[in-house]
Amino acid sequence: MNKIELEKIKQKALEEHIPIIMDDTLEVIEDLLKNKKVTKILEIGTAVGYSAICFSEFLDENGTIDTIERDEERVEKAKENIKRAEVEGKINIHFGDAVEILPTFKEKYDMIFIDAAKGKYPFFLSQALRLLAKDGIILADNVLYKGYVMSDYNKHKQRTAVRNLREYLKEVMENPNLETEILEVGDGLAVSIKK
Ligand code: SAH
Ligand code: MG
Repeated sequence: MNKIELEKIKQKALEEHIPIIMDDTLEVIEDLLKNKKVTKILEIGTAVGYSAICFSEFLDENGTIDTIERDEERVEKAKENIKRAEVEGKINIHFGDAVEILPTFKEKYDMIFIDAAKGKYPFFLSQALRLLAKDGIILADNVLYKGYVMSDYNKHKQRTAVRNLREYLKEVMENPNLETEILEVGDGLAVSIKK
């Protein structure tokens, strides 16, 4: 991959206030995957492709990433960026609503990164559980949502998002097949490993 281009893509995304993955979150993920064989990654929420490009470094030889994005302009931008970063052979972008696309997927994934509409996290979880490989790992970004999730949110405009994020956390914590940890990196990262 082309690191100089990656840095430019990152700076541009930050300037445009696109909520790309934060550096500390990326470091934690790199660490989690260190001794794992990762051939298939699924990402929900591509934006301009920044996180997918970063994740491509964690793949085994011949590994691939499927990533889903519903905003057409962002899909175009992501395609362009992935080419610039010279990782186009490794990343497949699926244009459309993940709520409709996920149920059509059948292959298993070693890592699933949930980073799209917060109100849909419980649905994304049900799909992620269906698509998770043995020893797979589900990561959900922004689960602490600027602190709203752990505080009194009733007066808050983002009530539905907060309710669904809490629901997501409850489900992963209570699922007997998962070992879950909630990390205070970035905007909150839930790490769930299949037992
Ligand atoms: N993973 C990216 C950031 C994603 S931002 C990175 O770290 O670089 C979240 C993206 O999810 C937005 O671009 C938004 O358009 C997309 N999104 C939100 N809900 C979606 C849905 N239901 N289906 C597909 N994409 C969705
Ligand atoms: Mg995010």
